[in-house]
Amino acid sequence: MSKIIDLHTHTTASDGSMSPGELVRYAKSRGLAAVAVTDHDTVDGLEEALSEGEKAGIEVIPGVEISVDFEPEMHMLGYFLCKTFAKIAGVLNELRKNREERNPRIVKKLNEMGFNLTMDEVKKEAKGKVVGRPHIARVMVEKGYVNSIEEAFEKYLADGRPAYFKKGKLTPEQGIQEILKAEGIPVLAHPKYLYMDMASLDVLLKDLKAKGLKGIEAYYVDNTPEETEEFLRLADKHGLIVTGGSDFHGSYKSRIEIGVGYGNLKVPYELLDNLRCI
Ligand code: AMP
Ligand code: ZN
Ligand code: FE
Ligand code: FE
Repeated sequence: MSKIIDLHTHTTASDGSMSPGELVRYAKSRGLAAVAVTDHDTVDGLEEALSEGEKAGIEVIPGVEISVDFEPEMHMLGYFLCKTFAKIAGVLNELRKNREERNPRIVKKLNEMGFNLTMDEVKKEAKGKVVGRPHIARVMVEKGYVNSIEEAFEKYLADGRPAYFKKGKLTPEQGIQEILKAEGIPVLAHPKYLYMDMASLDVLLKDLKAKGLKGIEAYYVDNTPEETEEFLRLADKHGLIVTGGSDFHGSYKSRIEIGVGYGNLKVPYELLDNLRCI
């Protein structure tokens, strides 16, 4: 049987429900040979994850997922960040400050819409320094305003919904460059969620590659098989390496299982070897 890996997961350092240690032990228990921890805008969980990986006997790849400025949304993954992570910590701090401005605006808007919740409650829900919409959504579920985190997004929090506010971000080029400065490998996350036709994505990839992009997350939990094929073809065309993952968030995305996603995700182990060789 071939080895299972997952190159896209979140912990309590951002908006996952498992602590870094728990996540790594869980990955091991589910039979994964390697797991990358890619929290949003923070490297806080990486030391714990790496040391737990050594104890548990599973390879842990230190990573990050940075939101960059693009309509509607673009996320940049960074893999194999340099040991101390100090080179990227400064810019991530700035990004978290943007969240600190945005989250109270979302809560205020929800208050105006008649929902009774506070930033203190939201911060209590978040276990780490990165506070985001999933934490707000969970508070709304707990208060009975919605039945699920998904419903909170669909009705109020998603782009285009009434309590949505943009957050300050780096440009895609800056995101790529910050990852490169930290000796990481920049990879375009979930291209499906750029909502572009393949011809436009083709043009975008050429541009991002010129700006230092090294890879594309061609295998992703929500892809159709046809989308994955298209992304693999574009990766090949542009000389980009390929990664893949489930975007596991534990109970914040309860239908997604680590490694296998909804059950049929399969990320080939060779991708990790390719990533190592870059
Ligand atoms: P934020 O970082 O505050 O902008 O929140 C973005 C995060 O919210 C994403 O990384 C996902 O984890 C989560 N998210 C986005 N859309 C949805 C959705 N429709 N349902 C559940 N979670 C979502
Ligand atoms: Zn997330
Ligand atoms: Fe993402
Ligand atoms: Fe993610």
